[in-house]
Amino acid sequence: MGPILILGNCIAAVSAAAAIRELDTSSEVIICSAEPYYAYYRVSLSSLLGTSFSPEEIMIYQPSWYQKKQIEVLLGRRGEKVFPKKREVLLDNGETLNYQRLIIATGARAALPPVQGLEKQGFFTLRNYQDCTRIWEYGEDKKIFVVVGGGVLGLEVAWALRKREKEVTLLVKSDKILKHQLDEEGSRFLERLVREKGIHVVFHGEAAALEGPGRVEGVTLKKGEVIPAEVVISAVGISPERNLFPDHRLYGKRGILVDRYMRTGDEHIFAAGDVAEWRGKIQGRWPVAKIQGEIAGYNAAGLEKTFEEMPPFNLVQVMDTMIYSVGEVGGEDLKVLSSAAPGKEFFRKLFFRENKLVGGILIGDTTHSSLVREAIMEEKDFSNILGKNPDVNHFLSYLMEIEF
Ligand SMILES: Cc1cc2nc3c(=O)[nH]c(=O)nc-3n(C[C@H](O)[C@H](O)[C@H](O)COP(=O)(O)OP(=O)(O)OC[C@H]3O[C@@H](n4cnc5c(N)ncnc54)[C@H](O)[C@@H]3O)c2cc1C
Repeated sequence: MGPILILGNCIAAVSAAAAIRELDTSSEVIICSAEPYYAYYRVSLSSLLGTSFSPEEIMIYQPSWYQKKQIEVLLGRRGEKVFPKKREVLLDNGETLNYQRLIIATGARAALPPVQGLEKQGFFTLRNYQDCTRIWEYGEDKKIFVVVGGGVLGLEVAWALRKREKEVTLLVKSDKILKHQLDEEGSRFLERLVREKGIHVVFHGEAAALEGPGRVEGVTLKKGEVIPAEVVISAVGISPERNLFPDHRLYGKRGILVDRYMRTGDEHIFAAGDVAEWRGKIQGRWPVAKIQGEIAGYNAAGLEKTFEEMPPFNLVQVMDTMIYSVGEVGGEDLKVLSSAAPGKEFFRKLFFRENKLVGGILIGDTTHSSLVREAIMEEKDFSNILGKNPDVNHFLSYLMEIEF
């Protein structure tokens, strides 16, 4: 029969392995990990940037967990090629492994921006533990940092550097920070917090070239301005790690195509997490990778389970402030309840369509985040309470009282 083989070793992979073991205690399960560490909380890397820590300190499961579950982990071993017809994987040491089922959980690498001079010393991306240590080995004694990208990762990195007393410029391609997660008002609210922390924000700040003879000395923007920089960290998105197959049969536009069982076009192969393309989307988020890994694991072990779309949500802590955004956060047809206290660090906004809650932004106090998400998923009709013109705090108190 061969083992159930999992390529990749982060949240999608370990969630798949755990799900398999819930149902199947006898099949051999092997995780093949390109990184030489047990799976760790990748999401912690940005906040730990510039501190001294080891991957062991942020491990998802201790080595004893794998032993107890009889999950074999090949550390520092990359799967190079998959041969679906032979049900075989070629590893980077020349060995081959066969499989009865294969789960591809190889995630993604950092996408590179279309900028000249990326080969210069002082340019980095942040995706794994090694990147984190390399950035700090080079950057600890440097002062002037530029972060490219106004999304979640860009903000997290900018904040981590600012906390380490670096001079930080954040280059944002559009005219808004977190433009996919926040509406205009929420984004301006956050922008104020960012600027108050001393981070310099450049909107329409698309980088064109890195300047300097061999080491980075500055960034030239498309609009002509040159921003001084000793270190440039790019956070402009991800590229799924999918180049595993001799042909492109299983590929979508960006990732490996899966159905709602996380099954690919080959019945023996599943994919989950940042490498998996479902309904034309790569989600690129930790909680989604976790659930998709579980679904892939259950199905690989023979129990039919399906992945249902989750409203997109993000919870980040930057600038000493929690920021939560979920679902649809803008649109002319939406009714809005909001409370933004001027000069305060709290911001709450809820979005409704046809009396159903469809989105929310909570900045500062995210206590109600799960409740808001649940209410969105329930698609409950709130015409009763909305008819009383509640303010946002009143509505949240109402949510706490009712049962879904
Ligand atoms: C610094 C940082 C902060 C983040 N913060 C957030 C956040 O706040 N919220 C959020 O929702 N998401 C966040 N993310 C995104 C989140 O971490 C990812 O969505 C999640 O890790 C995806 O998990 P995954 O298991 O699919 O893949 P990955 O985490 O990418 O892991 C894939 C693993 O597979 C290995 N691998 C790749 N190719 C092979 C191969 N051929 N053979 C064997 N092994 C291979 C890789 O080395 C890696 O260890 C953050 C990401 C980063 C980098």
